[in-house]
Amino acid sequence: MSLSSIWTNVDLDAPGRQVGLIRLEHSVHRSAYGTIPIPVAVFANGRGPTLLLMAGSHGDEYEGQLALARLIRDIDVERVRGRILVLPAANQPAVAAGLRTSPLDAGNLNRSFGGSHADTPTGRIAAFIADELMVHCDAVLDLHSGGSSLNHLSCSYADLGTDKAMAQRTFAALEAMNAPLSWAQIGCPNGPVAGRAALQKGAMYLSGEFGGGGRLDHEALEVAERCVYRLLNHLGILAMEARWRAEVPTRFVFNVQGDFVYAPSDGVFEPLAGLADTVESGQLAGYLHLPECPMEAPVELRFANGGTVSVLRTMGRSRAGDCLFQLLGETKRDEILAAIETMA
Ligand SMILES: [Zn+2]
Repeated sequence: MSLSSIWTNVDLDAPGRQVGLIRLEHSVHRSAYGTIPIPVAVFANGRGPTLLLMAGSHGDEYEGQLALARLIRDIDVERVRGRILVLPAANQPAVAAGLRTSPLDAGNLNRSFGGSHADTPTGRIAAFIADELMVHCDAVLDLHSGGSSLNHLSCSYADLGTDKAMAQRTFAALEAMNAPLSWAQIGCPNGPVAGRAALQKGAMYLSGEFGGGGRLDHEALEVAERCVYRLLNHLGILAMEARWRAEVPTRFVFNVQGDFVYAPSDGVFEPLAGLADTVESGQLAGYLHLPECPMEAPVELRFANGGTVSVLRTMGRSRAGDCLFQLLGETKRDEILAAIETMA
């Protein structure tokens, strides 16, 4: 037992394989001395870098959770050089409920870093991840998907930061993951997100979006695992198996201006573009219908900019403000390298 309200029974400095728990004190009516049990694994063997693999920041994003649970069962620690920290169900209450946010406090773990929600269960999990895990890491790979409300094109992602050396290392890692779509974001993200926390702790931040729609997508799971094992290989922590070695063609993408289409009013969303479609500025994107007002014409939705549809809302009934589409723009490897070159 620790005096802290959050503690773990794994020793980050011990060699070998440990599978244990981070326990967050949670004293409630039905469980006076209760805790929230967050699974954690450590694989450590000799000298080498430390990588944090995390999933389940959002509980309804399943591919990363399964990829990391399988990794915990499969990895032979004798093959590891360095250290792997694994959190397959980072926001455990959200994961157990299959919800994006925690049923305890409505907390969104990936919006709870930086002390922004320090007094909530989700905020305390975020603080533990940043202050007790990320602080020891050379790199973080944080696996996401579109969740229940969105389908997301499978892609790897990196926050390149603002420091040239860090951005070069991070871009090399993003390339090594060799996802079919690689999304490189220049700069440090705003807001209390994991990417900002990792960069502030001196760790490179890699992520990815793999599937969505509140279901498990086997192809997206395979892309997620490909990213995990190729990154481990790139960092020199674990040599990859033959199945991950073949390179696939990669397209580089980035955020474009006017990339989101939001619902301007309530209604039933009828999309006219699909995931991975290339669309043009001004193109008809879909309609919002109000079947309860049959004499009202549907609201037309148009794309403000061109790009590749990377996100598509999965649910029909929508409310004003809901995200219906996101677009990504295509870029060239050389353009990203040139942008990194301008950094200090
Ligand atoms: Zn997510």
